[in-house]
Amino acid sequence: LLQLYVPLNWFGTYYRVIQKNFIDMENMFDLLREEKEVVDAPGAGHLILHAPHFRGGGADIEFCSVSFGYLPDQPVLRSVSFSVPHGKTVALVGPSGSGKSTVIRLLFRFYDVQAGAVLVGGQNVKTVTQSSLRAAIGVVPQDTVLFNNTIKFNIRYGRVDATDEEIIEAAKHADIHNQIMTFRDGYDTIVGERGLKLSGGEKQRVAIARTILKNPHFVLLDEATSALDTQTERNIQAALYHICDNRTTLIVAHRLSTIIHADQILVLVNGEIVERGRHEDLLNKGGRYANMWEEQLSNKDAERREMEKPSEV
Ligand code: ATP
Repeated sequence: LLQLYVPLNWFGTYYRVIQKNFIDMENMFDLLREEKEVVDAPGAGHLILHAPHFRGGGADIEFCSVSFGYLPDQPVLRSVSFSVPHGKTVALVGPSGSGKSTVIRLLFRFYDVQAGAVLVGGQNVKTVTQSSLRAAIGVVPQDTVLFNNTIKFNIRYGRVDATDEEIIEAAKHADIHNQIMTFRDGYDTIVGERGLKLSGGEKQRVAIARTILKNPHFVLLDEATSALDTQTERNIQAALYHICDNRTTLIVAHRLSTIIHADQILVLVNGEIVERGRHEDLLNKGGRYANMWEEQLSNKDAERREMEKPSEV
């Protein structure tokens, strides 16, 4: 009986891990509230990441005149076209509700486009299995879900067969190792509702460590909207550098300071790309992006002045 129990128990544990992983993804995109209407095409193949015809040309990610709406008569994206060449970083910015997260959902093929096409590695996402597509993508969500378990478990979750050494290495790259070492139980510290509470910035670094461990071909980063203090922001920047460097990355950015080094910035307004270029070029243009930049600088200034005010007794 024991012989049967061990593999079954093992299977049960991993099944739960895999299932939780999926639930985590679903939480990220509020999928539980959404219809799951997308299914694999009959005979869909695996996403091929280094197809011979693709080497040397084409972009890793391509949106070709994509139009989409959650409801038929309410367009959310209007003829959106852009590409992310291999190893490059493209950032999406724009007002709330302009369609930034929708771009990420379409890339994951949580929905099908109404017109145009989404290509990954030169293949239309409609023609490949969703599991192979999602396996190639690492996501750092806005709000990371942590389990009531050890920090080690929460990081290992990026790749269940990772060794302890690999977990520590990932945590170092995510700039959270030193902090973990200050906890009495180190990597065995329980986090979550029943244990230590981590701040938003720390949770995001745990998500970054997971993604580093997963070592995906593409990274999608949905930056947290919450304001971070300068030190936390610096730590996150340093951690992000390790996942974005030489990896095809799409960032939804709320703080423009995060993306000043992006290879291309797309400004999305009301479902349309109204400006595109590098940070300096867009500043010189004096348009929408330049206005957003000015606004963020003056907000930061106001915050600093507020903090420097002598407190009244
Ligand atoms: P934010 O910066 O606030 O996260 P965003 O630019 O990412 O916003 P999206 O989440 O892509 O914006 O939403 C774009 C539009 O689509 C919004 O008007 C939103 O209300 C609508 N929308 C998003 N999800 C759904 C849904 N599941 N069903 C119907 N409409 C939706």
